[in-house]
Amino acid sequence: MFQKILIANRGEIALRVQRACRELGIATVAVHSTADAEAMHVRLADESVCIGPPAAKDSYLNIPAILSAAAITGADAIHPGYGFLSENAGFADMVDAHGLTFIGPTAQHIAMMGDKIAAKAAMKEVGVPLVPGSDGAVPDLETASSVAERIGYPVLIKAAAGGGGRGMKVAQDKEGLEEAYRLARTEARAAFGNDAVYMEKYLDRPRHIELQVMADNHGNVVHFGERDCSLQRRHQKLLEEAGSPAISPAQRDALGETATTALRRLGYRNAGTLEFLYQDGHFAFIEMNTRLQVEHPVTEMLCDVDLVREQIRLAAGAELGYGQRDVTFSGHAIECRITAEDPHSFTPTPGRVTMFHAPGGLGVRIDSALYAGYFVPPYYDSLVAKLIVHAPTRQDAINRMRRALDEFAVSGIQTTIPLHREIMDDPSFQAGDYTIHWLENFVAGRRAAT
Ligand code: ADP
Repeated sequence: MFQKILIANRGEIALRVQRACRELGIATVAVHSTADAEAMHVRLADESVCIGPPAAKDSYLNIPAILSAAAITGADAIHPGYGFLSENAGFADMVDAHGLTFIGPTAQHIAMMGDKIAAKAAMKEVGVPLVPGSDGAVPDLETASSVAERIGYPVLIKAAAGGGGRGMKVAQDKEGLEEAYRLARTEARAAFGNDAVYMEKYLDRPRHIELQVMADNHGNVVHFGERDCSLQRRHQKLLEEAGSPAISPAQRDALGETATTALRRLGYRNAGTLEFLYQDGHFAFIEMNTRLQVEHPVTEMLCDVDLVREQIRLAAGAELGYGQRDVTFSGHAIECRITAEDPHSFTPTPGRVTMFHAPGGLGVRIDSALYAGYFVPPYYDSLVAKLIVHAPTRQDAINRMRRALDEFAVSGIQTTIPLHREIMDDPSFQAGDYTIHWLENFVAGRRAAT
């Protein structure tokens, strides 16, 4: 087992990883920018190293500085968290080359899944159903046009190197294709330095359902069920549930069987998430994330498992030690992502937190690095807290989330707590009756009402 892990991240996820390390008796090293000197992840770590100025490219994405911090402190492994360097195959390679362990999949698998065209080809090969679309990259407008004729409008043009919903454009009809194609490529080039695009049928009312998997280095793969992440704004998740109100245990088993068989054949290692769109009873793969997800806690609550502990154990070479039949699903879990944003305009609201009171009680979990007196810096993602509840039924979980949101008090900055409160009260959310478009409509409806 590792003696000391460097956590190449900040905020709530850095704390999350520290917690797992501490319970395993592993020392932790925090890295931080000058803007984060007072951050909770720095205060709670065993050691900390400043790796650069506020801009992420100079600090949390600064590979030489992070590797130097690992060398200076004698860390033997690096956990990347999510975002930043977590899906950077070159970084994983360099960590290995420096004789350290990267806590995650192999660089080869990160690279394969990071190229969405390659990922879809690999998944197709091992029997995973895909959204109908182009066979590979779409190099010119002429090809785009013939793909669209074949699969039918509306179509979605997506960046091969995509992430965070960028480089994605819908063409409703033939007339709109040229502009969507051009915009997608321009946006992809600007965001990822790579303007390769591919195409998919644009599904009109899917749910986003993803499956958590975990694989050891010895060929054993299990899944921990699905999460429903359909509540999105600008293709970004805002609230997640486990399990999905839309699928049955038999569907979960079948999807899990397909996914674990596929990953066994690909020789995948460590944690991963397969993302699917689900519509009219069919699942279609869209992409795989080769890292821990923001929303992993709902799965942890549902299955009573510590996914970060599992990542660390497996990266150190341990066997899973249990099989699919040992994974059990109990009750229902919901996560609300609370951001430092105006709850109506979604403008970021960095600033000093003057008061912080977290909810508690049975079945309530908070993953947050906030504290009274903390200054939320303007340089990074606006996620400041994840509020997670677990209860015997979905209705109980909604009731619990509602009362936990009522208890949650943050002053000094605005947060999206009021928005989550409104979602909990909405009858169609309560009925579990929603698609990926539900939240955009909900937000537009609120705006019209005010
Ligand atoms: P990114 O990596 O940029 O997040 P994804 O491929 O994961 O891109 O898609 C993000 C979201 O965009 C999905 O969760 C879904 O809401 C929407 N989306 C993606 N593909 C399609 C599609 N073919 N039809 C309709 N919506 C889609």
